[in-house]
This record gives sequence, C-alpha cells and structure tokens, in this order.
Amino acid sequence: MRASQFAINTMKETPAEAEIVSHQLMLRAGMLKKLASGLYTWSPLGLKVLRRVEAIVREEMDAAGALELLMPAVQPAELWEESGRWQQYGPELLRLTDRHGRDFCFGPTHEEVITDYARRELKSYRQLPVNFYQIQTKFRDEIRPRFGVMRAREFVMKDAYSFHADAASLEQTYQLMYSAYSRILERMGLAWRAVVADTGSIGGNASHEFHVLADSGEDAIAYAVDGDYAANVEMAPTFPADGPRAEPAEAMSEVATPNARTIDDVASTLDVPATRTVKTLLVQGTEVPAVALVLRGDHALNEIKATKQPAIAEPLTFVDEAEAPKLTGASVGSIGPVGLNIPVIVDHAAAALSDFVCGANKDGYHLTGVNWGRDLPEPETADLRDAVAGDPAPNGQGKLDICRGIEVGHVFQLGDKYSRAMNCEVLGEDGKPITPLMGCYGIGVSRIVAAAIEQNFDERGIRWPQPIAPFTVAIVPIGANKDETVMERAEAIYADLRARGIEVILDDRGLRPGAAFADWELIGIPLRIVVSPRGLAAGQLEVRRRDADASEDIAAEQLFDWLD
Ligand code: ATP
Ligand code: MG
Ligand code: MG
Ligand code: MG
Repeated sequence: MRASQFAINTMKETPAEAEIVSHQLMLRAGMLKKLASGLYTWSPLGLKVLRRVEAIVREEMDAAGALELLMPAVQPAELWEESGRWQQYGPELLRLTDRHGRDFCFGPTHEEVITDYARRELKSYRQLPVNFYQIQTKFRDEIRPRFGVMRAREFVMKDAYSFHADAASLEQTYQLMYSAYSRILERMGLAWRAVVADTGSIGGNASHEFHVLADSGEDAIAYAVDGDYAANVEMAPTFPADGPRAEPAEAMSEVATPNARTIDDVASTLDVPATRTVKTLLVQGTEVPAVALVLRGDHALNEIKATKQPAIAEPLTFVDEAEAPKLTGASVGSIGPVGLNIPVIVDHAAAALSDFVCGANKDGYHLTGVNWGRDLPEPETADLRDAVAGDPAPNGQGKLDICRGIEVGHVFQLGDKYSRAMNCEVLGEDGKPITPLMGCYGIGVSRIVAAAIEQNFDERGIRWPQPIAPFTVAIVPIGANKDETVMERAEAIYADLRARGIEVILDDRGLRPGAAFADWELIGIPLRIVVSPRGLAAGQLEVRRRDADASEDIAAEQLFDWLD
C-alpha cells in the first residue's frame, strides 16, 4: 500500500470527548469516526486491524471444528416470545416494527435464531455435536455507550452455539472453546486472564469470561496471587463464608443509618418502588438493612438489576427477616458500592445460580455478588482491595488481590434453556426424541481492537502487537527530492517485501521526516525502515522497532535478517 493512496488522516490534538487512551488514539490515528452515540465508521486503516483480529478468531474457530454460518441481524419477535426473552430483556433490546405492524428486534445475541435453525436442521443425535458460529454485527442499546468501540451500541461479535446429545459432550466442546479463546488471545500477544463469571440474562450453568488486563477495564477481578482462582466480582466469588469479621455492633452502627438517597437510587434503578422494602434482614447471623427482593422461577440476579420490565415487578415479595435464611436455594447478593452494599435475596429455585454463595467483607458488609447496575457508582479498585486483599482464595490456594480487566470473551454452558423452551428435539440413540444441550461462546471482535491498545501504547501512540498491526513495516524515504536513487531504492524494498507477503506501507507523501515518523508512531506500525541519501551512500538502512528506544543502522543486505 502507498500512503498517498491510503487516506492517512491523523490528528495531533487529543479529542475532548475521548476519556480513555484507546479511544483517544483510535480517533487520533484516524481509525474511527463517530456517527452518533455508540455508532462508529471504521476507516480503511481501522478496518485493517479489525479484519486481522477477525482472521485470527476465524482460524482458531475453524481449527476447533466449528462451522461458520451467517444469521440475519434483524430477528422476529415471535422467536423471542418463545424463549420468554421478549418480556425479560430490558431496554438494551432495540425493538422495531415493520410496515405490516410486525415486531422485530435488532439482534443483541442469537440464541433464539440458532435454536430455530437447529430445530429445523438437526434430525438425529448422529448430527451432534455440532458448533455453529458467525462473525457479525450486534446492536445493544447500552445505557451508557462510552469509550468508543469498547462499549458501543453497534459492534462486531463472533458468536458460536453448540448442540449436544449429553452433558459430557457439552463439557468437551466447552473445553475446546476455552482453549481456542486462550490461543486467540495468546496469538494476539495480549496479557489476559480467564475468570469465573456470572451467567447474566442468558442463563445457564458454567461460565467463564476472558479479560484483557488493563487498569482502565470496567470490570474488577478478584484473583489468587499464587493460585488459579479468578472471578469477576460482579459474579459471586465465594469469599470465605465465615461470617463478618468486624464486631457486629460496629458494623451495624454504620449500616443502621444507610444513606437513604442511595437506597432510593437502587430502588429507582430496579424500578420497583411499590414493592421495595427497606427492612432488617438476618444475613449470616447479622442484622443488616436491606432492599429485599425475591424472584421465583429462573430469574437470575442480573435480570433484577438490569430489567425495568413491568413483568418483573409482580413476583417481588416482602421478605420477613426470619425467613431469609430459610429460603430454598436462596442466594444473597448485594447492590451498591462496597461500604454500602445493600443485600438482595434471590430465590432461584431453578438453580440457575446454585453456586451463588454469600460471604462478607471486613466491614461486615456483603461483598459477594456485588452487583451494582452499570448506572450505579462502581466501587474503586482500592476499596475492593482494602476489602479482600490478602484473604485466602475460596479454593484455599493463594491469597486474593484485585485487578481490572476488559471482558473480551465469554463462554457459557446453556444447558437446555433455549432448546427446551423452543421445542428443539432430535432423535436419540434409542429412537426417542431428545432435547439437545447447548453451549454459547462470544468474542467481542471490535472490542478486542480497543482492548489491545489499552495494553500497548506509549506517549507517541499505539504499539500494535505484530499479529494485529494494520501494516508490519512502514518504509519512509527521506531526501527523495535531492536524490532520485532514494525513491528507487524505497520502491525496490517495497516490491521485495510485498513479494515476501509482508504487509508494508510505503510513505510516498513527501512529508518532512519528523511529521512522517510521528504518523507511523501514532498509528503504531511495528517496524520502520528509513531510506536516505546518507544511508545509501554508506550502503546502510536506518531501521527502528516501534518499541525500541533508538534507531539502528544496518547494512542494506542485512534487511531480511533484521525483519526475521
Ligand atoms: P459487558 O459486561 O461488557 O456489557 P456482556 O457480558 O454484556 O459485556 P456478552 O453478552 O457476554 O457481553 O457478549 C460477548 C462479548 O461481546 C463480550 O465479552 C464483549 O467482548 C462483547 N460486547 C458486549 N457488549 C459490547 C458492546 N457494547 N460493545 C462492544 N463489545 C461488546
Ligand atoms: Mg452488557
Ligand atoms: Mg459482562
Ligand atoms: Mg458477558
């Protein structure tokens, strides 16, 4: 590619609307243009990176035996009514009506569509297991779109859905996807961690998230410093359930005068003013004021926090404090920042969150299940660290600490939630119909681009890991107006690199060297080759790695050794 023909359009100033580094640098490098809140156009430069991420994801999905297909972005409401999510899914679902008055949504995820496809496509257990995936545009009407493509409304996701005759087969594919996700992030050269996760509004049992580690990450992760344990604190990490460690009286004096405004904030977030009850609850033997909510059936905690559907208000029940510990399969979570965690009781008789266990932090508040809605203030890393750092991990291996992460991938074992609700059946080995078990596996393709920058930048700009860089090499001829052999030599190197399949851009714009270098450093090209009259006279090229402190002069014939 020649830079003169590639619409390079960088900017020096940091755009005021961009809060985090990746958003600032993507705008400054000219990778993105905002169209409206949460909607972005990817420039040719930005799209090159997106496509490279996509290619790695596709290669690893194919290698794991998954089959690519493509489903419509727009989905009929009938399917969502079958699964029950037309009512359950909150305002993140963009609902549309066509000219005939029929309801549709713009897909935020595709469980319903794939289950409909499977029930028509799959006839026999012999066709199982099968894992379908697509790389496609999703729409979620995020309450607070921010950080550019990190939390956009329209974004690119790779989503996969597997179907199985039995639990062992589901577990096997789940492990395959877990390994594929690990390889994808390894190949991209990112520092990452897999963590135990909440199953959210999708429902189901086992679930892990894959986080790219970065201080700007929206999620807090509790992990064992010398062990394997890692969990999103949004989920309920099973912190030691040995009850509050502070003197109950001391703990109570703080919680007995809860900030009413905060409780009201919580209630209004939940949108359940009529049924909310501020009441003293007995939780782990300690009395604490609570907003007590009981959801019966298979509603998960996430649905309480996120859903403002009227349907959800109906099953909310007053909880008598004496009753709380007796609820069958009840789990205790809390809403609000650490230090003002307001307990929430969830009776999930369907055992969707059966491992949701209550614990307490040092102040006697409930840290587990910390489930602040996105629109409530999130706890600071330092507060979380104060609360848990140094505690033993729930599995006893290592001591806990807190770090921050960007959720880039998520794998779930869904079980038969969708296949049963939507009557997806195949003939089993004994000739009788069986309901396949399902798994689902998502990766935020566009979010990974931003997450990679959060981990790889300096004061001069982006430092792409080579596997996802838009170009591997930039060739910058300088002094070409004084010496015509400079451009000839630059062209020859350009042709040579292209012939070797190396992604290269030739800077033929005739800019001042300083301006040209600043562009390639901002854009983050891993390798730079400078061709100059002085170098040519000495038979040398000036080369520089993006992450090196200085350039080096190498003999021209050593170029390919250096590139290797
Ligand atoms: P988050 O907790 O960040 O809102 P999620 O848990 O709602 O994400 P999933 O339903 O697990 O997201 O979707 C799979 C993947 O899609 C996520 O791991 C993430 O990488 C990506 N993703 C989700 N929402 C967005 C968004 N608004 N913008 C960009 N990528 C997103
Ligand atoms: Mg979300
Ligand atoms: Mg999440
Ligand atoms: Mg998720």
